[in-house]
Amino acid sequence: MTPRIVLATRNPGKLREFRALLGSSPQLSELDLETAVIDAATAGCAEVPETGLTFEENSLLKARAVAAETGLPAVADDSGLAVDVLGGAPGIFSARWAGAQASDEANLALLLEQLADIAPAHRGAAFVCVASLVIPDAQGAPASEFTTTGRLQGRLLREPQGRGGFGYDPILQPVGETRSTAELSMAEKNAISHRGKAFASLRGHIVEALTR
Ligand code: IMP
Repeated sequence: MTPRIVLATRNPGKLREFRALLGSSPQLSELDLETAVIDAATAGCAEVPETGLTFEENSLLKARAVAAETGLPAVADDSGLAVDVLGGAPGIFSARWAGAQASDEANLALLLEQLADIAPAHRGAAFVCVASLVIPDAQGAPASEFTTTGRLQGRLLREPQGRGGFGYDPILQPVGETRSTAELSMAEKNAISHRGKAFASLRGHIVEALTR
C-alpha cells in the first residue's frame, strides 16, 4: 500500500499518538496505518523552518510545505506554553525561551525565576496546540485547509514536580488536578492534552480525506 497522509513531524512520539488517534476511527479500521500514515522524514521531506509569528502560521506553513513536496494530504501541529501574566509568552518561543539551543530544564528554570513573585491566584497558564490539515491539488497547491486549536488549562507550580513528559510538563498543573502533567500517565495526558484535543477536532476532516 502507498502512503495516504503525511504527518509533518520528525518526532516518533507524535507519529505514534497520531496513528493511535486515527486507529480509533471505525471508518479507518481497514487501513494499515503503519504504511498509510508516515512522517515527514520517511516521506523524504526537507525540514521546514518555523518562520511564522503564531502557532497557526507555523502549523499551516509546515503542513503546506509537506503537502506541496509529497502531493499528499499533510497534517502538522505547532504548540507551546502560554502564560497569562506574560500575555501569552513564551508562546512560539517555548522551545527556545532561554536561548536558541536551550535545554528543557533551562527554559523551565528561567520561567520559574521570572514568575518567582507571582502569587498562585495569578499563575494561570495553558499548553496550546494548533493542528492543520492541508489537502493539495494535482499540482501540490493547497486545495483545502483546516486548522483547529486545543488547550490544556492549568496553573504553574513553584517547583518542578514529576519526571514524566517533556518541556514544561513538570510545572503545569491542569485545572482540577493535584499532579503536574509530568506525573500523569501518557494515556491520562493524551486524554486531556492540547495536542489530543486539536487532533481530535481535525479527525473528521482527516477521515474524509483518507476515505474519499
Ligand atoms: P513543538 O510544537 O513540539 O515544537 O513544541 C514547542 C515547545 O512547546 C516544546 O519544546 C515545549 O517546550 C513546549 N510544549 C509543547 N507541548 C508541550 C507539552 O505537552 N508538554 C510540555 N511542553 C510542551
